[in-house]
Amino acid sequence: MPLQIVHYDDPILRKKGEKIKTFDPALVRFATEMVETMHEAGGIGLAAQQVGRALQLCVVDLRSAHAEFSWRLDGAQPPLELFMPMTIVNPEITPEPLPEDIAEEGCLSFPDIRGEVARPETIAVKFKDERGTPHLLHCDGLFARCIQHEADHLNGVLFIDRMDKKVLAELEPANRDLKKQTRAAAKD
Ligand SMILES: [Zn+2]
Repeated sequence: MPLQIVHYDDPILRKKGEKIKTFDPALVRFATEMVETMHEAGGIGLAAQQVGRALQLCVVDLRSAHAEFSWRLDGAQPPLELFMPMTIVNPEITPEPLPEDIAEEGCLSFPDIRGEVARPETIAVKFKDERGTPHLLHCDGLFARCIQHEADHLNGVLFIDRMDKKVLAELEPANRDLKKQTRAAAKD
């Protein structure tokens, strides 16, 4: 695996990412490594914080997701194969407040832990790709959920922060174990 994925509760996961101002070959390389890392780990999204860098950059690939969702990218509806995997830099999300949708989420920084999270079903997101080209995306369903989850990471927010108290209480023992493991690994 090209990059190491950090687990809860490594402190980097709580850092707000810096806005990216320089679009250069190093950034393109980093985005490519992020995509490789996400694919290796079998995830549909990965944020820079999860590989130890506090930057406003995440990658998403929903080609293998078995879910229905719709999207408009820059005013068109290109097939997913044309723009995925995609790199999202400096995202600015505008959610449609209603309706909300509740679904189970996982996170590569929380291996084997899954829980239900409520989120707006539809969003608009302004972002740049890894070459600095601006885009406007409207999407819903799993696509919107995935981007909201990743954009949260870029601001130091984790899916456990958005879980209902009951859901969180059930996950508490697993989260505590994971914290311990992460701390023990940091000491080695
Ligand atoms: Zn995550």
